[in-house]
Amino acid sequence: MTTILTTIAEAREALVDPRTNGTIALVPTMGALHEGHLSLVRLANEHADSVVVSIFVNPTQFGPGEDFDRYPRTFDEDVALLEGAGVDAVFAPAVDEMYPKGLDQTLVTGGPASRILEGAHRPGHFDGALTIVHKLVSIIEPDLAVFGEKDAQQLFLVRAMVDDLNLRTAIVGAPINREDDGLARSSRNRYLSAADRELALHLSAALRAADGAADADAARQIGRECLDGDGIVLDYFELVDPSTFLPVEGAHTGTALAVLAARVGTTRLIDNQLLMLGVSTAVN
Ligand code: AMP
Repeated sequence: MTTILTTIAEAREALVDPRTNGTIALVPTMGALHEGHLSLVRLANEHADSVVVSIFVNPTQFGPGEDFDRYPRTFDEDVALLEGAGVDAVFAPAVDEMYPKGLDQTLVTGGPASRILEGAHRPGHFDGALTIVHKLVSIIEPDLAVFGEKDAQQLFLVRAMVDDLNLRTAIVGAPINREDDGLARSSRNRYLSAADRELALHLSAALRAADGAADADAARQIGRECLDGDGIVLDYFELVDPSTFLPVEGAHTGTALAVLAARVGTTRLIDNQLLMLGVSTAVN
């Protein structure tokens, strides 16, 4: 039986027992759940005695003109999925519960890596995301929290926040969950028309094409060319050092994380993949 908690007081009260008698994992989400979210829940279940999933479309991580108002909200279906996955509690507060004094209050500010790539295209996005993660962790006090590698920059910045602000929650990353044809699962995929969904396959294809390139410059060129076509507007295709999230030099070889964001029709999608550069992957 999954308990639905909507206030901070209720959540604190309901979690006293599970905390005393075992470990708690938190899986923060914005709802409109899909198989990718459920893979995080399964990982959480492996690591902890109780699993709490938060469902909260966080206004402070959306910029003006972004899709906060039309972000899909499918609460009843979400709860049914989480019941089936054996989740102990859902924390689904209203905006006023989380931001009773309005949105323009104390914020967590990320370091330099929060202002490049996604942070450059969505100013303030990561400050909003880090703020809500900090609030959720303070309310639930989980032993661990699970985040998807799909949002690689967010995962990097959450780990940095936990380290920099000496939080006690351990952060666990979960691999990207994809459709059979390679498209990374996303709540925003439901916006895609049939034609846009076909075009969206270019994102994961560009990452695969860049893998094994001679160096970082070659990989960037291959990836950007794959995404230079009608119906796709590329925001960035960049190669970063996974340990700093800063772009690698053009001549870099070895491992690098390729990250991209592109608009397909009116839908903005992100994806990433760890690449091996300058090393022949041919098998004899
Ligand atoms: P969201 O509801 O989009 O904010 O996502 C909530 C969590 O699920 C974040 O940690 C995401 O990185 C993760 N997530 C979303 N889609 C996927 C996916 N396809 N594979 C793995 N994790 C995902």
